[in-house]
Amino acid sequence: AQHFLARAKSHANLGAFLDTNTDATLAQARAADARLAAGSAGALEGVPMAHKDIFVTRDFATTAGSRMLDGYHSPFDATVVSRLADAGVVTLGKLNCDEFAMGSANENSAFGPVKNPWDITRTPGGSSGGSAAAVAARLTPVATGTDTGGSIRQPASFCGITGIKPTYGRASRYGMVAFASSLDQAGVLARSAQDCALVLSSMCGSDPERDSTSLDVPAEDFTRTLAEPIKDLRIGVPAEFFGEGLAPDVRAAVDAALKEYEALGARLVPISLPRTELSIPVYYIIAPAEASSNLSRFDGVKFGHRAKDFKDLNDMYELTRAEGFGDEVKRRIMIGTYVLSHGYYDAYYLQAQKIRRMIADDFQQAFQQCDVIAGPVAPTVAWALGGHGNDPLADYLADIFTLPASLAGLPGMSLPVGFGAGNLPVGLQLIGNHLSESRLLNVAHRFQ
Ligand code: GLN
Repeated sequence: AQHFLARAKSHANLGAFLDTNTDATLAQARAADARLAAGSAGALEGVPMAHKDIFVTRDFATTAGSRMLDGYHSPFDATVVSRLADAGVVTLGKLNCDEFAMGSANENSAFGPVKNPWDITRTPGGSSGGSAAAVAARLTPVATGTDTGGSIRQPASFCGITGIKPTYGRASRYGMVAFASSLDQAGVLARSAQDCALVLSSMCGSDPERDSTSLDVPAEDFTRTLAEPIKDLRIGVPAEFFGEGLAPDVRAAVDAALKEYEALGARLVPISLPRTELSIPVYYIIAPAEASSNLSRFDGVKFGHRAKDFKDLNDMYELTRAEGFGDEVKRRIMIGTYVLSHGYYDAYYLQAQKIRRMIADDFQQAFQQCDVIAGPVAPTVAWALGGHGNDPLADYLADIFTLPASLAGLPGMSLPVGFGAGNLPVGLQLIGNHLSESRLLNVAHRFQ
């Protein structure tokens, strides 16, 4: 723990950590030492780890990357945090992210962007950019992240590490600051599929009392089948993931990885996910709709920031929200309230829900022909910080390959498979059917 805290300090220029608390961390480490000495060690006893600042924590401030929660201290730990603590994890601190996890470049954080350790002029990806950068720069062996539309897979790909988003409902959302509740899912970023499997095994499990959408499935040991051979595995390759928008350097690295899988005995099966392009408008209607509802709780009364000079109650709400939220969050609240409003609900929100169902059905069709699906995570390698300027659409369009699995609630992961332009890492995305995390981790592990 001391080693990693020192590294976090000496690499503060990356902007990965938002809060540390040396006393709390070392107290946890001493308790872990005592349990190890007493022979009562948990599965992850003494393993240092840091959490995306979307998970509420008692020992560390929680901001969700927003000025709205500046100085907020939660009275309790998120279920994911307490499960990992029960397994013996020692928490190093909290990691930077896009404000309320809205973004693809970590540039929407109120506390500054995170830098990609491979090239500090580049984005680490987002929204779990702090998590990916911290693991890639070895400031922590493992980190938690959340993925609503790609926020674990895309930063993992941009930073050359491994990340997994489990099936929607596998890990409890209790204590995760809500963005889009029907999509939000906790997961892990680490150096390898094996590390992901170890941590995920302790973090998942149903939480019926506190998260009504958590799945009623028993906790699983995701390490058990890691080493199994993948001979005759059918890997579905969706044509729509290899269209014009895919940069040639990313395509070359992904193609080479698929060849490698063939050499390992897998079979490549051409498949189609015909509504891939529609996943962008569908996601950018549904996610803001849910966000506009979830973010109504930040009114200056219960949490964090409250404006100072106000005339009356309404004025206090307005000023607080004007000061507390950043531009992207405000944009999403406006889109969300618009698509949910009377007269537009049928044309936008309801229509998006229908297409969401069709996207999920397309995946079930595809899984008739293959065991897992593989393709790129993002159309390009990590872009330059500030590279998309003030163009939010450029960020949205870059989410095209991660949104479909999120809308379908499917598990997905990114594993590092090579390098593209500027020697920047390229990840391969694997998507599996519901509850197939063991399979995905096995397939990734065989490559590594
Ligand atoms: N980039 C997407 C967005 O901005 C996904 C974010 C996420 O997965 N949290 O909404």
